[in-house]
Order: sequence, then structure tokens, then C-alpha cells
Amino acid sequence: MNLILLGPPGAGKGTQAKRLEESFGLVQISTGDMLRAEVKAGSPIGLEARAIMERGDLVPDAIITAMLANRVGQADAANGFILDGFPRTVPQAEALDRMLAEKGIRLDHVIELKVDDAALVGRISGRYTCVQCGAGYHDTFKTPKTIGVCDNCGGAEFSRRADDKAETVAARLAAYHRQTSPLLPFYGAQGKLSAVDGMAAMDIVFAALSSIVKP
Ligand code: ADP
Ligand code: ADP
Ligand code: ZN
Repeated sequence: MNLILLGPPGAGKGTQAKRLEESFGLVQISTGDMLRAEVKAGSPIGLEARAIMERGDLVPDAIITAMLANRVGQADAANGFILDGFPRTVPQAEALDRMLAEKGIRLDHVIELKVDDAALVGRISGRYTCVQCGAGYHDTFKTPKTIGVCDNCGGAEFSRRADDKAETVAARLAAYHRQTSPLLPFYGAQGKLSAVDGMAAMDIVFAALSSIVKP
């Protein structure tokens, strides 16, 4: 089972991808996480991507496509993957189609998480993650059982993304509407698109996704 989760920044793609990963044995492939790892490592890709990401713009297609081609070819992706944050432009989607055709891999579902722009700002500004294990939290919508201690690993250090500030969110939303939303008709025409109400509570969203993923 190979999926794409499509949706604006803060829609819940990462949250749901992690749950689908656990329940269905799929691997989450997040181009945002991959880029943040490159930035942290100070690699050539990271050096090029850093300022672009902090502005809220999209990293050039060529860089992203090469990074992803390499990732989907890795052994752990063979049992099925969830693409989270890729593709984000029509050229990326076309490159993905070519890449999968070459490797004989089938794309099963593209699922849109629909969330109002007004809700996204609140989701993004409250988002933080555990430094040790990467578990995701939110100041109001998903607090750890004991504040300051990760439920998953007991870690006590958390971080917030450099691009999760109010000034950058507007640019990221604009990039989504201008560059990524054309993917909805693109995958609609392939008959692969379905939509889930991403405004609902996390468990409800997960149940809706599961019913699409589970035949
Ligand atoms: P994305 O990967 O699409 O950018 P995330 O999964 O990181 O989004 O979610 C953004 C923030 O919103 C996180 O802090 C997460 O805990 C929270 N969140 C995710 N899904 C929901 C939901 N259904 N209701 C309320 N908050 C949510
Ligand atoms: P979001 O919370 O917006 O879903 P991501 O973690 O997916 O955030 O992406 C963070 C940033 O990384 C984006 O704003 C963009 O600069 C860059 N990025 C991630 N994936 C891509 C992609 N497929 N194409 C271009 N840029 C990307
Ligand atoms: Zn943790």
C-alpha cells in the first residue's frame, strides 16, 4: 500500500502518517523531516535549503526529486510508504509518476486532509516535538500526560521549528494554494484522490484514513 497525504501546512499529515506507520506497517517519508536533517547536518542540500525554508518558500524541484528518488528505493520502503509533504508541485508529481513507473511501484491512494486556513495558524503556532524521539505535540490539542515529559520516551527536551512562526505561516499557506493545490485536480484525473475532514479530532481523522487504507 503506497499513499500520499496531501494538505496544507499544519493539516495533520505528520501526525496521521506516524499513526498509519504504526498500525499498517508502512514507512513515513517526510521531505520536510529529510530537509531539516540536511540543515542540521550542514550538508550542501541543507545549506541551500535553509534560507528558503525559513522564508516559507518551496525548495527547488530538482533537489527534492533527487532526494526522494533515493529514498523510495531503500529497502524499508518496499512494504509500502506514506509520502508526507511530497509532491508539492505538479513537476514533482510528474517526476514521481515517472520514478514509480520505472521501479514498477503502484500508487494506491492520494488522500487530501481538508482544514480551514484559520485553524492552521493555531495548529502551527502551538506545534512542538520531542528532540529525542521526534514525537509531536501541541500546546492545546495534544499535551503530554505530564507537561515537560515526552509520553513516548521520557525525554524532557522539546523543540519548535524555525518556520513555525506567524510571519512565515502566511507564506507557506500561499505556497500551498498557489503551487500544491493544483495537485488535487491532477490526482483527481488519475482517479486516485479522496478527501478526509481534517478539522475533526485526531482519532476521528485516523479512523477515516484507516477505512480508506484498509480494503
Ligand atoms: P502537518 O504535518 O500537516 O504540517 P502536523 O501533523 O504536524 O501537521 O500537525 C500540526 C499540529 O496540529 C501539531 O501540533 C498536531 O499535534 C496538531 N494536530 C494534528 N492533527 C490535529 C487535529 N485533528 N486536531 C487538532 N490538532 C491537530
Ligand atoms: P508542513 O508543516 O508545511 O507540512 P514540511 O515539514 O512538509 O512542513 O515542510 C517544511 C518546509 O520544507 C517547506 O515549507 C518547504 O520549504 C520545504 N519542503 C518540504 N517538502 C518539500 C517539497 N516536496 N518541495 C519543496 N519544498 C519542500
Ligand atoms: Zn520523546
